[in-house]
Amino acid sequence: MIIIILGAPGVGKGSYARILQEKLNIPHISTGDILRKAINDGTPLGEKVKSFVSKGELVPDDIMLEVVRQRISEPDARNGFILDGFPRTIIQAEGLKKLLEKMGKSVDYIINMILDDETIVKRLSSRRQCPHCGAIYNMLSNPPQNDELCDICGEKVIIRPDDQPDTVRFRLKVYNEKTKPLIEYYEKEKGYIIFNTSPSIEVGTKALLEKLGI
Ligand code: ADP
Ligand code: ZN
Repeated sequence: MIIIILGAPGVGKGSYARILQEKLNIPHISTGDILRKAINDGTPLGEKVKSFVSKGELVPDDIMLEVVRQRISEPDARNGFILDGFPRTIIQAEGLKKLLEKMGKSVDYIINMILDDETIVKRLSSRRQCPHCGAIYNMLSNPPQNDELCDICGEKVIIRPDDQPDTVRFRLKVYNEKTKPLIEYYEKEKGYIIFNTSPSIEVGTKALLEKLGI
C-alpha cells in the first residue's frame, strides 16, 4: 500500500505515520527525518540542505525528488510505504507521479491531516524529538516517561531548531503558499481522505484506521 500524508507542520503527520507503519508493516518515509539525519551525519546531502532546513525554507525540488527516488527503491519499500513531508510542491507531486508510473505503482490513499493554526503553534512549541531514533514527544500531552529521556533509546530529547516560534510561523507561511495548492491537486483522486487530528491520539487512531478500512 502506498500512502501520502499531507498537512501543515505540527498537525501530527509523523505521529500517525509511525502508527500506520506498525499496523501496515511498511516503512514510514519522512523526508524531514532523512534530511535531519543527513545534516547530523555531515553527509554531502546534509551539507547541501542544512541552510534551507534551519531557516524553514523548502529544499529544491530536484534534490528532494532524488532523495525520494532512492529511498522508495530500497528493498523494504517493495510492498509499499508511507510518505510524510513529501510531496510539498506541485512539481514534487508531478515528479512522484512519473516515478511511480515508471515503477508500475500508484498511490492508494492521500490523507490530508487538518488542525487549527492555534493548536498547531501550541503543539510545536511543546514538541520534542529524540535526535537518535526520531521518536516524537509532546511535553504537555505525551511526555517521555523518564524526565527528558527517550522511552525507546534513552537519549535526551531536544527541541528541533526549526520549532522556534519565528521559524514555525515562517514554515506555516511556506506551507500555505507552496504546499496547500497540493490539496486541490489531489482532492479529486480516488483514495483522498480528510482527517482531523484534534482528538487524542487514541481516539484519532481508531477513526483513522476505520477510514482506511484496517
Ligand atoms: P514539518 O514539521 O514542518 O512537517 P519536516 O520534518 O517534514 O517538518 O521537514 C523539515 C524541513 O525539511 C522543512 O522545513 C524543509 O526545510 C525540509 N523538507 C522536508 N521535506 C521536504 C520536501 N518534500 N521539500 C522541500 N523541503 C523539505
Ligand atoms: Zn530515541
